Amino acid sequence: PIVLGIETSCDDTAIAIVSADKKVLNSKVFVNRIDQQRIGGISPALSAMQHRMFIDNLIEDCLDEISCRLADLDAIAVTSCPGLVICLKVGLERAISLSRISKVPLIQVHHMRAHALSSRLIDDSVEYPFLSLLISGGHCLLVLVKNPSEFDIIGIDSTTSPGECLDKVAREIGLKSKDRHLGAEVERLARLSDDDGCLRFSIKPPSTSGADFHFASIKNSFLNLIQQGKLDKLSQKDTVDLCASLQFQVTSHLCRKLHLAFEYLQSKDILQSQSKTLVLSGGVAANKFIFKAIEKLTNFYNYKLIVPPGRLCTDNAEMIAWTGIEMMEENPNVAIPWTSLPSSIYAHDRYPIGTSIL
Ligand code: ATP
Ligand code: FE
Repeated sequence: PIVLGIETSCDDTAIAIVSADKKVLNSKVFVNRIDQQRIGGISPALSAMQHRMFIDNLIEDCLDEISCRLADLDAIAVTSCPGLVICLKVGLERAISLSRISKVPLIQVHHMRAHALSSRLIDDSVEYPFLSLLISGGHCLLVLVKNPSEFDIIGIDSTTSPGECLDKVAREIGLKSKDRHLGAEVERLARLSDDDGCLRFSIKPPSTSGADFHFASIKNSFLNLIQQGKLDKLSQKDTVDLCASLQFQVTSHLCRKLHLAFEYLQSKDILQSQSKTLVLSGGVAANKFIFKAIEKLTNFYNYKLIVPPGRLCTDNAEMIAWTGIEMMEENPNVAIPWTSLPSSIYAHDRYPIGTSIL
C-alpha cells in the first residue's frame, strides 16, 4: 500500500507519501520560524493561514514529482488530534475533499502515537511491545506501545513539556535563532559552558508521584530566578551557565522518572522476557546531552535505545503516513471509505494517547 500523510497540528505544513515497504517516496514541509521569532511564539491563527496558503501546492508537488496520481494511493492519513484545533481543521478539510475526489479511504491519526511509531519506519528492530519517551514542544509522555492503537501511559506531564520549558526560559533570557528551535540554541550555548556551569543555577527539583513529570516547576523556578532581578544583566558566561543549568535540570528530571519507570517495569515483569527497547522521540530528543544521559540508564537496565533521525523527531508527515499504514494493516476497518465520510471530522486539541497504568 501507498499512503499520503497530512500533518498540520501545529506550525509545520507537512505532506509525505510513504509505502508499506518503508520507503518515503516524497515529502514536503513548510514552516516559518522567522515570523514566530518576531511575535515571540506560535500564533494558531497565523499557522492556520499558512496551512491554508501552502497545503494544496505541497500536496500537488509531492504527488507530481514522483508521478503519483491520487488514484494510486491506498489511503490518506491525516492528523486529527491532539493539536491546535484551527490548524488541524485545515488538514482534515483537505483530507476529506481529497478522499472524495480520489475515492480513496481516510485514516485519522493521533499525532503523539505517530511520533512513537516513527521509529518503526526507520528501524526494523523496533518490535511491539516497546517503551517510548516522547519529549516535545507540547508533551512529555512515557508510554508502553503494545500495537499501533494500544498505548499504556506510565508517566505523563499534565502541566507542560520539556520543550516548552526550554523555549520559555530561552525566550526570557533573550535567546534568538532564525532557523532552529530555541531548545537547540540552549543546547548549543550549554556546550560552551565549563564543567561546573550546569550546577551554578540550582533549583528545587520537581516532586511528583510515580513516573509523572512536572516541567512547569522547572520552568517557573528558572523564570523566577531570572525575573527576581538576580540575573538582571547577563554576561556571556551567565548565559551559557544558565543554559547548561537549565538543560541539566531538564535532563535530571527526565532521568529520575525514567529510572523509576524501569524499576517499576522490572518489578511487574513487563518487557522482561523479550529484548527491551526504548524509543526516544519528539523535538527534544534531538538534544545530545539528554540522549547521553538516557543512554547511560538504558545501558544499565539493558534496553536498546533508539532515536529516529532529527527530521523524524520533530513534526513531519512521514510519521503520519506510516502510522496510517500500520493502523490499516492491523485493522482495515480504521480506514473510512470515501462513501461513508462525514462532512467534517472533529479536531481535538487534547486527546489521551492511552490509559495510565502507574
Ligand atoms: P507536540 O508534538 O507535542 O505537539 P511539537 O510538535 O510542537 O509538540 P516538536 O516539533 O516535536 O514539538 O519539538 C519542538 C520542541 O523541541 C521545541 O520545544 C524545541 O525547542 C525542542 N527542541 C528542538 N531541538 C532541540 C534540541 N536540540 N534540544 C532541546 N530541545 C530541542
Ligand atoms: Fe509533534
